[in-house]
Amino acid sequence: MKINDNFLKIQSSYLFSNIAKKVNAYIAANPDKPIIRLGIGDVTRPLAPACITAMHKAVDDMADEKTFMGYPPEYGHKWILNAIAENDYRARGVDIDESEIFLSDGAKSDCGNIGDILSVDNKVAVCDPVYPVYVDTNVMAGRSGDFVNGGWSNIYYMPCTAENNFLPSLPTEKVDIIYLCFPNNPTGMAITKSELKKWVDYANENGSLILFDSAYEAFITEDDVPHSIYEIEGAKTCAIEFRSFSKTAGFTGVRCGYTVVPHALKADDGTELNGLWARRQATKFNGVSYITQRAAEAVYSEEGKKQIREIIAYYQNNAKVIYNGLKDCGFTVYGAKNSPYVWLKTPDNMGSWEFFDTLLNEIQVVGTPGEGFGPSGEGYFRLTAFGSAENTAAAVERIKNYFAK
Ligand code: PLP
Repeated sequence: MKINDNFLKIQSSYLFSNIAKKVNAYIAANPDKPIIRLGIGDVTRPLAPACITAMHKAVDDMADEKTFMGYPPEYGHKWILNAIAENDYRARGVDIDESEIFLSDGAKSDCGNIGDILSVDNKVAVCDPVYPVYVDTNVMAGRSGDFVNGGWSNIYYMPCTAENNFLPSLPTEKVDIIYLCFPNNPTGMAITKSELKKWVDYANENGSLILFDSAYEAFITEDDVPHSIYEIEGAKTCAIEFRSFSKTAGFTGVRCGYTVVPHALKADDGTELNGLWARRQATKFNGVSYITQRAAEAVYSEEGKKQIREIIAYYQNNAKVIYNGLKDCGFTVYGAKNSPYVWLKTPDNMGSWEFFDTLLNEIQVVGTPGEGFGPSGEGYFRLTAFGSAENTAAAVERIKNYFAK
């Protein structure tokens, strides 16, 4: 047998395992020095009580012959698809039909799997820095070309730095698939409706597909920032949207998300992508567990919404504490306003791994080096607001005390 040797091309050092190695080595050598982790984007608050109650009830349903559920429908139960269409779309003036929504075990799987329905011949564009999944899954699929000079030869990189306010410029050559993630991981920056309209127009004019990752929409605070790409006129003919309950409702360990593929989205030959994705999911995915779907449904209940708003506000406050604390101490900082991420410029032109080592070794704070997200992340650093309020405040104090020296 032969393997898919595209897998051998993947850079062996995955960002977060590199960080874990460094942190574990530090802890082994310094067991008495407590570390504060503001690195990986995982949540720390428990699930909203409304979700917990719904899950307990769903467990009881499974214990009774009359309410027991076997295999779920491949794309999600009607009641959860309806709650999504109603709350995430119709409430924002966007008409998305239940048949355009596909429930899944999370946005990471969907962002990765979507490539199954797209030709290997497509030219892919990504922002730089970027959520690594978009790139690595295209390498696995054989769309990347070779790794030369720090980048993949067949991937079109769109640098996002302070110079362009972290917004990519429209491609200067024809690209077929464009990954956009707003609010952005890792930069924490958002896109306005008028800026996103330019991308929708570009995609419609050039027959390109936008893969829009909206995993952080719950953190949006500004009115002119869209929660969904379908708030932009024309998006249904050019965009697929990925959503996740992970950051919205603390489901990182529960696992649930969904993907929207509008019927109006068609390939050059007229094929509806909705049908292809339906086929893909029905063949390779057996649906989301009943208990999880009930938890997701509770996210949209009146109490669920209220409880989740409080949890998001808790993280938003952490983001503010980090942003303001670093700014007061002279750092140039970005993000935070519509996002759980703070993106900072490293001081004195320090490399981002050098800054990582300094924070770890000198003040025991762990963040994520920008360079790990792509070459344009060099010189930047990401801190997340997903820690506890106490740890967040303590980390900011440590940074202030050290850099104020
Ligand atoms: N998309 C982005 C941009 C993310 O940052 C993450 C997780 O960190 C995901 C998707 C993954 O979401 P999920 O937990 O639903 O798989």
